[in-house]
Amino acid sequence: MSLKIKVPIAWFGPGTLVHHASIVCEGGRVTYAGPSAAAPPGDEFLEVDGFLMPGVADRHVHIRLADPGAVLLGGVTAVRDLGWVPEEILALANASELPSFTGPVIRAAGPMLTAPGGYPTQASWAPAGMGRELEGPEDAAAVVAELADAGVASVKVALNAEDGPTPSDAELAAIVQAAHERALPVTAHVQGPGQAERAVGAGMDEFAHTPWTERLSNPLLESAARTMRIVSTLDIFSFGRVTPELRTACDNLVRFRSAGGTVVYGTDLGNGAISAGIHLREALLLYEAVRMTPEEVLGAMTAGPIAVDGPADLIVLGSDPLMRLEALGDLRVVVRAGRVVSG
Ligand SMILES: [Zn+2]
Repeated sequence: MSLKIKVPIAWFGPGTLVHHASIVCEGGRVTYAGPSAAAPPGDEFLEVDGFLMPGVADRHVHIRLADPGAVLLGGVTAVRDLGWVPEEILALANASELPSFTGPVIRAAGPMLTAPGGYPTQASWAPAGMGRELEGPEDAAAVVAELADAGVASVKVALNAEDGPTPSDAELAAIVQAAHERALPVTAHVQGPGQAERAVGAGMDEFAHTPWTERLSNPLLESAARTMRIVSTLDIFSFGRVTPELRTACDNLVRFRSAGGTVVYGTDLGNGAISAGIHLREALLLYEAVRMTPEEVLGAMTAGPIAVDGPADLIVLGSDPLMRLEALGDLRVVVRAGRVVSG
């Protein structure tokens, strides 16, 4: 059963805006994306007066603290869970690939690797098993191998010196080496003086949040920009207000981008008052406070361009977000794996 969607305007990805576009999907994949004039027919046909783009990917969520159905209906078709009990979240990630699942496709890091007694093992909101306490470099490497076998998509490390002890540099080195041997990226929660520098020094691949507890030096941001990307999560520092934490984070993020660094959209959904689905305030902060262009913001919010053989995960907005980003709040249709879930 194929589905064809026709729209007056579609953004396939950075640099590719198509007027009078059609997308045809079948079996969860895109089989045609291009001008309507050349499009093949579909078994099912939907014409929407709106702006079509890839579904939004949120690179930092805790999906067990949210409603997956609401996340999908809100336009987010893919999420990466950065911290939960591994057995539970990996089972959910597997289930999310099935057509019967009502929610975004979920990829997961499993637990946060930490020191004995370290964050988040003492946090009131964290279930038992959300932090994995390391007992030396050999144990750290073994834990990463175990998680890789279990099917994690990345490895999360807690470097939160404000809330307890953190793994040693030797453990960090062992984590990065073991993860890279399995082609897994390492993402770090850094909080407290010197922790961002430790993550860069250990060769980690990503900051799970924009560092917000201290102003990072230009040389540090320059070396981070060469090898790491940053998941934004700006609104989690402010919830719509202006706070010192938000100012510090934006200052770091602007200079990271000036040094050529890559920023992706993430909200830390589940941790505080973040709305399920597209979180407009996060997108607006990237535009207003970080000075990304609307097209750069859309690029940060999506996992890849609409293309033949790519996932048929699409959204249609009521107007053009390249003209006015607030259009991200005017969602008309959500398509997940080639099936219309709203509209
Ligand atoms: Zn988080």
